[in-house]
Amino acid sequence: MTYIDTYYARTVADERRRAPLSGAETADVCIVGGGLAGLTAALTLARAGRSVVVLEARRVGWGASGRNGGFVSPGYSTGLDAIARRVGPDHAADLHRLSVEGMRFVRRTIDELGVADARPVHGIMSTLRYDGADELKAHRDRMERQFGYALTYMDRDAVQAVLKSPRYFQALRDPTGFHFHPLNYARALAAEIERLGGRIFEASEAVSAELDGPARRIVTAAGSVSARDVLFAGGGYTDRLVPSLRKAMLPIATYVLVTERAPDLIRTAIATTDAIGDNRRAGDYYRLVDGGERILWGGKITTRTAEPRDLAERLRRTMVSTYPQLAPLKVEVAWSGLMSYARHLMPQIGRLKPGVWYATAFGGHGMNTTTIGGITVAEAIAGTSDRVRLFAPFALDWTGGPFGMAAVQLTYWRLQAQDWWRERGAAA
Ligand SMILES: Cc1cc2nc3c(=O)[nH]c(=O)nc-3n(C[C@H](O)[C@H](O)[C@H](O)COP(=O)(O)OP(=O)(O)OC[C@H]3O[C@@H](n4cnc5c(N)ncnc54)[C@H](O)[C@@H]3O)c2cc1C
Repeated sequence: MTYIDTYYARTVADERRRAPLSGAETADVCIVGGGLAGLTAALTLARAGRSVVVLEARRVGWGASGRNGGFVSPGYSTGLDAIARRVGPDHAADLHRLSVEGMRFVRRTIDELGVADARPVHGIMSTLRYDGADELKAHRDRMERQFGYALTYMDRDAVQAVLKSPRYFQALRDPTGFHFHPLNYARALAAEIERLGGRIFEASEAVSAELDGPARRIVTAAGSVSARDVLFAGGGYTDRLVPSLRKAMLPIATYVLVTERAPDLIRTAIATTDAIGDNRRAGDYYRLVDGGERILWGGKITTRTAEPRDLAERLRRTMVSTYPQLAPLKVEVAWSGLMSYARHLMPQIGRLKPGVWYATAFGGHGMNTTTIGGITVAEAIAGTSDRVRLFAPFALDWTGGPFGMAAVQLTYWRLQAQDWWRERGAAA
């Protein structure tokens, strides 16, 4: 079982394969899914002295956690105001603080474990494609006032000095947020879990689950795990093993490309080591990798989970529509990945029934949120905190099956049309 061909898989530092589960194992906790949600939970439990088994259908970091844009920043897939409308302003502020904690945990863990191959680079620019100085300044002031979180305002000249595209207006720069190599981070977490005595099995898809006895039992093709607690963390790859979990999430695909090496040409377009995102609902996100020699460019979302054949060309056209000077730049590799979304766009983290936990639906903002999802659910299992209750208002919600998928795609097109409308004629 190899990774699909991504930039990250081509540059992965730890290639070790782990054996599939065979025979009967027991543990305090069995975790289904070796993405960042499952791994962070396993790490937290192992650090608390619990015995853990992680079952991963493919390889550690094979899913979204090992093939994403690599942006690590505070927040969720939906904004603070939308969260406050559902749970009130104080609760929303607590959730936001937790999301900052998730980002800081990732950064600190890279240092603590000495994960040089995670290659963290600080600085994320969030850009506008229309004139909106006042809205950015208001957001900057609010983050400073409410959370003591510093963002730097960049006017259009400052933005144009580093992003050579007429599309862009102002930006907010987050000097604390960073970008990194997510697959190397995931693999380093796995190594640390094992160092602490945890067991991780690859090529070990959980195919059935007995969840109602005194101990839970998870079964794979060649083995089984009996555990007091089970955590399901299958992300966008969640299957029908637990039907209520599958019904509560929508798998949404998004795409990434990495270009050939062309540092001189790239400098004519992007002259910053910051990662860049725009504020459209499904906007572009990109950054330089390999010391500025290549661009990693992501964008588009769709409910079509099969990879389109012309994926690289579609994304390349998006890149060139922002930076026409990059037209000669060739794509070296392109890939897709699945995110899981709940209807309310917030993570779903909690307990299904005694001993049965879930942490999923992290959407497109998963690097910090899988981290706090993993930590809070592990704390609940270990009995050391009940912070997981902050997510209780975002319980499992039926997404509407195929009708839900169609509704999401329609909503997406409508939002795209709104973005286009706001942007039209904006570029000078
Ligand atoms: C292309 C792309 C770009 C993104 N960019 C960013 C970004 O820049 N910043 C950001 O914050 N977020 C980003 N995201 C979102 C982020 O990657 C996800 O939210 C996050 O990685 C989800 O982690 P997870 O652990 O829930 O799921 P995953 O990482 O998908 O892991 C789930 C794992 O569960 C396994 N699994 C499923 N079912 C079973 C089973 N029955 N038995 C055993 N194993 C099973 C799967 O094989 C998989 O490895 C992006 C996502 C994608 C796809």
